[in-house]
Amino acid sequence: MYNSINEARKQQHRRKILVVDDEDINRLMLGNIVARDYDVVYAANGQEALDRIREEKGSLSLVLLDLLMPVMDGFTFLGKIKEDEKTKDLPVIVLTSEGDAEVDSIHMGAMDFISKPYHDPEVILARIERIIELFEGRQLIHKIEYDDTGLLTRDFFLEYMRQMDEIENDSRDLIAVQIENFSFVNEIYGREEGDRVLLLIGKALQDFVTDHPGLACHSNGDEFFIYCRKLDDYDELLQIEEKIARLNDISSARLRFGVLKEEAGVGEAEKRLNNASFACKTLRNDFSKHIAFYDKKLHDDEVLSERLLNDMDRALEKHEFKVYLQPKFDISEESPQVVGAEALVRWQHTAMGMIAPYLFIPLFERNGLIHKLDLYIFRETAAIMAGWKERYGRHIPVSVNISRVDLHDIRLKERLLDILNAYGLKTSDIHLEVTESAYADDDNDIVARIADLQNSGFIIEMDDFGAGFSSLNMLHSMPINVLKLDMKFARTVDKDQKQFHLVKCIVEFSKYLEVATVAEGVENREQYEAMKEAGCDMVQGYYFSKPVTEEEFEKYFK
Ligand code: C2E
Ligand code: CA
Ligand code: CA
Repeated sequence: MYNSINEARKQQHRRKILVVDDEDINRLMLGNIVARDYDVVYAANGQEALDRIREEKGSLSLVLLDLLMPVMDGFTFLGKIKEDEKTKDLPVIVLTSEGDAEVDSIHMGAMDFISKPYHDPEVILARIERIIELFEGRQLIHKIEYDDTGLLTRDFFLEYMRQMDEIENDSRDLIAVQIENFSFVNEIYGREEGDRVLLLIGKALQDFVTDHPGLACHSNGDEFFIYCRKLDDYDELLQIEEKIARLNDISSARLRFGVLKEEAGVGEAEKRLNNASFACKTLRNDFSKHIAFYDKKLHDDEVLSERLLNDMDRALEKHEFKVYLQPKFDISEESPQVVGAEALVRWQHTAMGMIAPYLFIPLFERNGLIHKLDLYIFRETAAIMAGWKERYGRHIPVSVNISRVDLHDIRLKERLLDILNAYGLKTSDIHLEVTESAYADDDNDIVARIADLQNSGFIIEMDDFGAGFSSLNMLHSMPINVLKLDMKFARTVDKDQKQFHLVKCIVEFSKYLEVATVAEGVENREQYEAMKEAGCDMVQGYYFSKPVTEEEFEKYFK
């Protein structure tokens, strides 16, 4: 591969050489020889040569330098380019007829010499090529070309990708290859097995780029890349996985592929790797698909995400995040009564208008920014409740959403207590909604932290119960005061007998544990009545009210 790239590089992307000599005939002769393989520019003395180098802005690969010239001689010129940070690495070959000057010029930083008159063009070209390779190789030489998998390292892959792009006659795909749950393989089967899997994948990818001419690299940990001639049928990628499965009888490595087709835009190499990788990551937790393409929609999503991440701090400062309140109704009596509310964030973006949480909450959760936002919402909610107390002499408890990220903060409790103190509120005034999945976090401290919050007087509402893997069993071993039934129950509770009985069973078990139940997402009368019949204590949903502004919510006080 490396050799063929070198060949191609010579033909397709011609390097540029500067020939400096005051004799017209010498310039012409040398120029003719060199022009076979290179583009040539000329200068008649040292001063002109310096000007040329500046004009060419880094596009020169080599200088061929005569020593004896008027205006500025070769020695002075050499001294000047070695002083300048920008030009000091530009290789120089000295053209000389007097034997002793050769040694002097090498001392001054020339890399080689060619003696006049020019007898053998082949020798001259070979020397030039060697020096240019040396010069370009020096920039990569301290990095490692291949890693333990036998594939290129990321740096070299990027470099060769750029070189391949200079050969414009082929359409190519960049494909990110990730191993699903690689950490799992390491944990269960041990590191040795993990390394063996990496090797197998390395071998399979190497075979693939032999059949589909291109490059493959091991980027880091569980991620690989392929850059190869455009595939006719992307299902061919699935054969890589089958091949690995055949060779590997211990652990099973599932692969995901993220494809960036050339039409998706030829940008900077590094950026393209990120795009392919991004496409690949969209397949996480999706077991039905193995291949994703980076397309316009993904691109737009990514641009929007970047923008929202950038805007977040400013938005916090400018109070663009608004708390909306959705009432919770007690339905145990004849007429439903408001007994609480949930604080739900909305982003009133200056340029984009109102943004729904599904566009930014998952994004902020992924990089931890959600913690800032949740504390902000907690504080805003406390301010709203303090206002109610002042104006109406009472308040309705409001629940605030707590993310899993928040629970990794060992000072979470103190921070919440500080805010409550500042507004003269008690821990029982603001409920905390903790999503079911947080209880299942690998970090055991999380459940302990939830219990600690509960012991300080916070009412803990388990959110989205039934959406994931929780079992009824969890209910009596976990710190929970209120159970919020996931919306999926409301969807079918009025139509599906089995679902109705399941809800009834959950409610009864909760009653036995003295845990109150809230049915979320109740949208119509039938669903409401079914939830009431099942014995649910509270409902929250569009049938009663959408999330509303603070002002609108105040009607419940009047
Ligand atoms: P969630 O905590 O499960 O909140 C309930 C979501 O269901 C809200 O969506 C609410 O508007 C919606 N909803 C309520 N009643 C109905 C109904 O009858 N039908 C339907 N189809 N939907 C209903 P929203 O406000 O878009 O929030 C979405 C999610 O974003 C929330 O789900 C919550 O996980 C998250 N979220 C919202 N605000 C915050 C926040 O301040 N912090 C954190 N960490 N997450 C938040
Ligand atoms: Ca919630
Ligand atoms: Ca919920």
